[in-house]
Amino acid sequence: MASHIVGYPRMGPKRELKFALESFWDKKSSAEDLKKVSADLRASIWKQMTDAGIKYIPSNTFSYYDQVLDTTAMLGAVPDRYKWTGGEIEFDTYFSMARGNASVPAMEMTKWFDTNYHFIVPELGPNVKFSYASHKAVNEYKEAKALGVDTVPVLIGPVTYLLRSKPAKDVEKSFCLLSLLDMILPIYKEVIADLKGAGASWIQFDEPSLVLDLEPKQLEAFTKAYSALESTLSGLNVVIETYFSDVPAEAFKVLTSLKGVTGFGFDLVRGAKTLDLIKSGFPSGKYLFAGVVDGRNIWANDLAASEGTLKTLEGIVSKDKLVVSTSCSLLHTAVDLINETKLDAEIKSWLAFAAQKILEVNALAKALAGQKDEAFFSSNAAAQASRKSSPRVTNEAVQKAAAAVRGSDHRRATTVSARLDAQQKKLNLPILPTTTIGSFPQTVELRRVRREYKAKKISEADYVKAIEEEISKVVKLQEELDIDVLVHGEPERNDMVEYFGEQLSGFAFSANGWVQSYGSRCVKPPIIYGDVSRPNPMTVFWSSKAQSMTKRPMKGMLTGPVTILNWSFVRNDQPRFETCYQIALAIKNEVEDLEKAGVTVIQIDEAALREGLPLRKSEHKFYLEWAVHSFRITNCGVVDTTQIHTHMCYSNFNDIIHSIIDMDADVITIENSRSDEKLLSVFREGVKYGAGIGPGVYDIHSPRIPSTEEIADRVDKMLAVLDTKVLWINPDCGLKTRKYAEVNPALKAMVSAAKQIRTKL
Ligand code: GLN
Ligand code: ZN
Repeated sequence: MASHIVGYPRMGPKRELKFALESFWDKKSSAEDLKKVSADLRASIWKQMTDAGIKYIPSNTFSYYDQVLDTTAMLGAVPDRYKWTGGEIEFDTYFSMARGNASVPAMEMTKWFDTNYHFIVPELGPNVKFSYASHKAVNEYKEAKALGVDTVPVLIGPVTYLLRSKPAKDVEKSFCLLSLLDMILPIYKEVIADLKGAGASWIQFDEPSLVLDLEPKQLEAFTKAYSALESTLSGLNVVIETYFSDVPAEAFKVLTSLKGVTGFGFDLVRGAKTLDLIKSGFPSGKYLFAGVVDGRNIWANDLAASEGTLKTLEGIVSKDKLVVSTSCSLLHTAVDLINETKLDAEIKSWLAFAAQKILEVNALAKALAGQKDEAFFSSNAAAQASRKSSPRVTNEAVQKAAAAVRGSDHRRATTVSARLDAQQKKLNLPILPTTTIGSFPQTVELRRVRREYKAKKISEADYVKAIEEEISKVVKLQEELDIDVLVHGEPERNDMVEYFGEQLSGFAFSANGWVQSYGSRCVKPPIIYGDVSRPNPMTVFWSSKAQSMTKRPMKGMLTGPVTILNWSFVRNDQPRFETCYQIALAIKNEVEDLEKAGVTVIQIDEAALREGLPLRKSEHKFYLEWAVHSFRITNCGVVDTTQIHTHMCYSNFNDIIHSIIDMDADVITIENSRSDEKLLSVFREGVKYGAGIGPGVYDIHSPRIPSTEEIADRVDKMLAVLDTKVLWINPDCGLKTRKYAEVNPALKAMVSAAKQIRTKL
């Protein structure tokens, strides 16, 4: 029984790659320095897997930025604007595509399936001249081989590559990306021949698209592609990896009939249904890579349960063809638990980061081969048992309360239009009211204060004074700018999820549990290990202080339950919706305490609601129902005159507009400035939206300062489809990453545009 790892995090246990990249980009170190750090990281990963006893060790899962961009480089599909002149693609072209350069912006980035990893979207058209322009795959294979490790080179499969691409700007509407298959396959053939020549005996193609709802034509592309590659692949063992969900029956049939393929990899954590398909028919003589160790989470595997699953598979695939694997690449989990010194021993015993998952995979493989490491298994069983019975995990009152809300609906008692009328009487806002999304620039000084307070280097009194001063500054600035509904600026928050997680019970925080989000950017998701409750009010102190500084309405600012859930590592011992309802109840308590404290406008951010949408359409309805329900639970108990705002980051939500309406917030502010047309088209097509809506009037992701005219122009366009009574004027997200030198003039332009239009109405 052999072991296999689909892929491994490349950042390093202490984010070594991040720092090396950023230092190189800042011209503080050389390309050689960056290459050295990277080679050391790769070598240590290969050694780690070798030492653990892993048989199929991946290579080419390292990347300087992104594996999809690496594939674009491999195929020489560099958009013209980067002025690449051919030859092997070097850092300047590669990083220009990833990050832009002085004269050209970066290529677009988007989420890799339903993960928080962002890839660089290939831009393709009929005129792209493909060529073998990056030898990274073969170079990494040789590099490992020189270190004595015979690896399995990993390539993104040709069909998934095309299905994740977008047509270049000037390409005709009728253009079909899959029509490029015949043009990229010759390059894949060159790469495969090269790898074969270098001595590779296995090759892995990642084709996670197979878990999506595909059209017959898209499925046919797999058959076509692998038939075309068959002769080049002969002599090699080939594994096609799928992950992130189950493989639908039709796709399973196509996949398992592919020519020239030796083995198939499945995610048996998220794709439990695939197990039934395997049981009902798996091609004889083929390898089954059984992904039983979760690559998307930080929980220790339930080894006994996985052993059970593997044993049932043994009845279907012969022992020598069954390979224990991870559910997907470990890229999506944290790197190494060994560096966690802050977490207590009990919680630590429940966890496994990438380095520990390797050991789990190997332990399972050995157990199935009759060489069970009894000590390893029994300590795992003890940890599983402690997790099940720990009083830190279970809070019966919370479980009961969550179970009770699940069964019934929760809505505010009156319609949104009646509420808006009542609120307007109280708030007396001008038409086209102006507001911002919550955060103001986070200065170095501010970060220092928070850090020193956390490290107990400054007293509570000093900390409170510093934050109070900051809020007062932000309040004054907004009054000077003449903004209508103010925010306190969120100076006390490091992160919109962590801030709440730290005050809720059931959450733990790692010191180094970073996961790559894009390029050198990493996030450190909180770990939700137990039933969630709110021991004390979380934001009332600062919000009421801020409200006391101004006569204008001051928004109380909360992160919503779905966003807290989607940006955390969520416990896997109960359904996600259960945890979401628990968080919703905690936020509900907070909303009601804010209301009692006299805060009459409360914003509950659901920045990440859209991104939690399941990969398969058949699962959308259920997710949206409990997600939207959770949101409504948080604010169904407030009086009509309390105005509930929400904010969403993801601009592409036309497909979920009815769910957004169903959230029944009084006002929604949304990111829009990069996609005006898309958003407004929903309303043009007649979707009735009676609540307040603030599509962002300028892009806060860029340092560029918008002019009054350009904002006014945008607002005019919005007014063509939206009623004057419902439109709000605001930027498209929080201002925390901007500088005051950008924020001041931008907000000034925004307010003056609003005033200009008001006089015309
Ligand atoms: N209120 C948060 C802020 O302004 C919202 C951030 C977000 O949407 N990502 O920073
Ligand atoms: Zn946002």
